[in-house]
Amino acid sequence: MPTSSVNHQLTNVSWGLGFGALAALTNYFLAVEVYGSVTILLGQLFVFLALFSRGLSAALVAAVMSAAAVYLYTQNLFFFVTLIAEVVTVYALFQRRMPILLADLLYWLALGIPATYLYLPTITDLPNDFLLLILAKLVFNGLLYTALAILVFQLVPRSWRVVPMQSVSDSLTGRIFYLSFLSIIVASLSVSFLYTTRSARQVEAQIVSDLSSKANSLREVTDDFLNDYVVAVRNLRDNLQAVASYDEQVEIMDRTQHNYPSFVSMLRANAEGKILHGAPNHTMSELLKQNTTVPDIDDRDYFQQPKETQQGFVSSAFRGRGFGTQPIIAISQPLLTENGFQGIVEGSLDLPELTRLVRKTDIDPQFQAVVVTDDQDQIIFSSEKFSLVSLANFTPRNVINLYSQELPLTRIDNEDLLYTQRINSYGWNIYVFSTPSRLTDLFSYNLIILVIFLAIITTLLALVTRRFALEITHPLDSLAEQLKQDTNADLSFDKSEMSREVRTIADSLVAARKLMVSFNRQLQNQVAEKTSDLEHLNSKLEKLAHEDGLTELLNRRTFDDLAEQRYHEAMATRQPVALILMDIDHFKRINDTMGHPVGDECIRSVGWLLKEYFERQGCLVGRYGGEEFAVFMSDSRDLLKLAEQFQNALATQCQANGETIPLSMSMGIVEVRQNFSGGSFRRLVAQADKLLYQSKDSGRNRISIETL
Ligand code: GH3
Ligand code: MG
Ligand code: MG
Repeated sequence: MPTSSVNHQLTNVSWGLGFGALAALTNYFLAVEVYGSVTILLGQLFVFLALFSRGLSAALVAAVMSAAAVYLYTQNLFFFVTLIAEVVTVYALFQRRMPILLADLLYWLALGIPATYLYLPTITDLPNDFLLLILAKLVFNGLLYTALAILVFQLVPRSWRVVPMQSVSDSLTGRIFYLSFLSIIVASLSVSFLYTTRSARQVEAQIVSDLSSKANSLREVTDDFLNDYVVAVRNLRDNLQAVASYDEQVEIMDRTQHNYPSFVSMLRANAEGKILHGAPNHTMSELLKQNTTVPDIDDRDYFQQPKETQQGFVSSAFRGRGFGTQPIIAISQPLLTENGFQGIVEGSLDLPELTRLVRKTDIDPQFQAVVVTDDQDQIIFSSEKFSLVSLANFTPRNVINLYSQELPLTRIDNEDLLYTQRINSYGWNIYVFSTPSRLTDLFSYNLIILVIFLAIITTLLALVTRRFALEITHPLDSLAEQLKQDTNADLSFDKSEMSREVRTIADSLVAARKLMVSFNRQLQNQVAEKTSDLEHLNSKLEKLAHEDGLTELLNRRTFDDLAEQRYHEAMATRQPVALILMDIDHFKRINDTMGHPVGDECIRSVGWLLKEYFERQGCLVGRYGGEEFAVFMSDSRDLLKLAEQFQNALATQCQANGETIPLSMSMGIVEVRQNFSGGSFRRLVAQADKLLYQSKDSGRNRISIETL
């Protein structure tokens, strides 16, 4: 790895450490608890900021630190898996150009939720609907800190960004929608989380106070109940000790039992634990007669304890064996004289009476329930909804509690129950239970409200931002549209719907277009002017290229070209043609005697005459050399006659300095009949030239003609 790249990685890791520290601190100190161990992990915000601004390595460092803080808080390693996997997944999807919020949603739906769904039941046994709530909350939680991170990242200077952050949409409408949507998501999720937390706390506090007051009142009720009977037995003992007669004693006990009907039976035993008499008297007398059925009680706690401690005693619950087998509680007092322990009096307290009392307590049977156990944790009372058996052992086993921070959670008959416990002065345990349904109902109610709210807000937002963005983009689009059209027309816009900014742009464009149009017009005029000049010049040049300047006859090259062309056409259609070459006789003399300008004048006048005689008949006429000319005729009918007339006219043609300068011509004519075939134009010219020299040689001012 090159050094610069190592340095780069080190920088990213240190950035990761910085973001990680912020994430860890936030998670540890600012974790907003919603319930139990599930919290809003706001620290993840910094992990995502690390990801957006410094890339994956920084984000991984930050994620480990963020998860470590959550671990300190929850003692749960599972967050290491979910938080790190979240960053990696979002990064991978982000690289594939997926919008980040969508990537995070996808992560939770595809990985985070299934993993949590599989993992949570291994640590706690949640009812399904509550599990769903926790999972839903995880998704919203993830969306909240991701959206927040994206928004905060908009404020991060571009120079800090290592990862290029592409826009979610090309269009302005899309961007406005996305950012507004994020803002709303953040606001609504935050409010709903805070609100849910607050109202959950309130509901929880209500449950706590409700259970506490009910447990307290039950503690009092059971204490009072037992106190009453303890006092009754003590009074009985005192009364028995106050009278000596056996019959009187029997009667006192009978009366006491009658006054306290919850004592199913009462008895008096001697110091050896032998029952002396009991109440109700008739039952007791019957039993005592059958000696075998009434065992001694010296093995019973309610005998042994008063004997040893010389104090009153309240037993745990047990099943009676003398007067029936229902659960009872024995309340006993020692009979003491100066001679020491003389035996006990005992009342067997029937529990259904207590049941009636507990039932009188204001317990909401739909959500609440009660269990009372004695000091041995044997069930004395349990609400009917439980399938708990009297005298069975019961101590609630606490399970992991995601509902409440105040109250422990246990499970009875597969139902999750929050509960509170009180111990009365006889060591009895009073448990009051409540289903967490009020809490879960609240969560699901808030969740439903949140989802509906988000759906409505999203729809509204989509419509409003579209409208809003259109107000910006529509005028710009129409500006662009108009600019594309005819670039010479002035611009005109409907400014009624434009914002101030767009109106300014439009005004500048209108001014710019005006300037451009006037410039264009100026340019067009100039171009038109120049073009006509050029055309003029061109036609002049063209003329110059084809014509002879002095006579305005065809120049030799053009004459040759055109004549050759006509010659070949005529040959193809077997038309007769003729070629005349002519040369002014003794022209040098004119120049020599009268001057060059006069010579020019003569040549020009020869040109006019040639035009008049030949060109007008459709012949080609050219200046072939200095004072030498050529005529090509497509029709040779009156050829000779025409040539002779021309020759005659020449004599008086040239006028210069007020006098006529007589001219004469020598001619060589080649006439081609229609049955002529073959021979090039060049040969025709050579032949005519030869004939011209024949005319010169034979005295000038002559016509030599040859027919081919
Ligand atoms: P010939 O009868 O044998 O043709 O005699 P010539 O004097 O006409 O022939 P020559 O070839 O000896 O002379 C031609 C003269 O024509 C020479 C030249 O100065 C004159 N010439 C040619 N072109 C022009 C012209 O454009 N203007 C004037 N003024 N003279 C020209
Ligand atoms: Mg000549
Ligand atoms: Mg000549």
